[in-house]
Amino acid sequence: MGRVYLVGAGPGDPELLTVKAVRLLARAQIVFHDSLVSAEVLRLIARGAEVIDVGKRCGRKLLTQEEINALLVSAGEKHEVVIRLKGGDPLIFGRAGEEIEALRYAGVDFEIVPGITAVLGAAAAAGISLTDRRAASQLVIGTFSRGPQSSAMDWGAITSTTTLVLYMPGADYAEVAHRLREGGLPGDLPCVIVSHASGPQQQIRRTTVAELAREEKLPAPALMIVGRVASQKVQEISKAFWNGDAKEHQAPRPAVS
Ligand code: SAH
Repeated sequence: MGRVYLVGAGPGDPELLTVKAVRLLARAQIVFHDSLVSAEVLRLIARGAEVIDVGKRCGRKLLTQEEINALLVSAGEKHEVVIRLKGGDPLIFGRAGEEIEALRYAGVDFEIVPGITAVLGAAAAAGISLTDRRAASQLVIGTFSRGPQSSAMDWGAITSTTTLVLYMPGADYAEVAHRLREGGLPGDLPCVIVSHASGPQQQIRRTTVAELAREEKLPAPALMIVGRVASQKVQEISKAFWNGDAKEHQAPRPAVS
């Protein structure tokens, strides 16, 4: 019996993999990966290893989560090094929870190898200090796009000094803008969209919550960083806030659901 490694593949650039991930990829007998994992990263998998794409994106479901869990369990019973390779970090919107539970329940040994989650790649690309002490007191990572069994965004947790990161923003930016406004965020709050962070097709768009509705959609995968820290003039924007001269920058009311 071997071990199943839940490995983070980072946002795309293979240079952003951990040393441990590279070492394990070179030793793997079998790799189950998501479609988010870049071709450059897949090239680091040992020759002769079985490579299975279990990716499910844009509704093009290849395998159910239960099927993936079952595959991991049976591979863990057969092979020494089994890798479940996920984009970014396995523990951020990676459905690792279900896989960990299935492995635990089946008594299969496993280990989690962290990766650089997309927002860290995106913030680095856009030069955004996510917790800039002049403008932010907390970082919230959320999404609107979750299945019916998932919990919804807690707007009560979003304050005027929150940096809000939205994974999986979807295609309808007008809808996202509407929900952000409904959640109490001011229209002039900066919003940065980063597509294909750290990869060769990377794009960065700087806008605001109010203008987001009119923005042309960037290709997936993309995410949004919303908050004062996303301004290119954090010093100015935070000063206005602390002096109380920016009326719009009052703490948002939590939305009544
Ligand atoms: N486990 C992954 C997230 C998987 S959810 C992680 O930690 O990064 C998929 C979402 O991640 C995408 O819809 C997008 O919002 C974001 N994402 C993944 N890779 C990205 C990239 N290179 N650039 C921008 N966003 C990315």
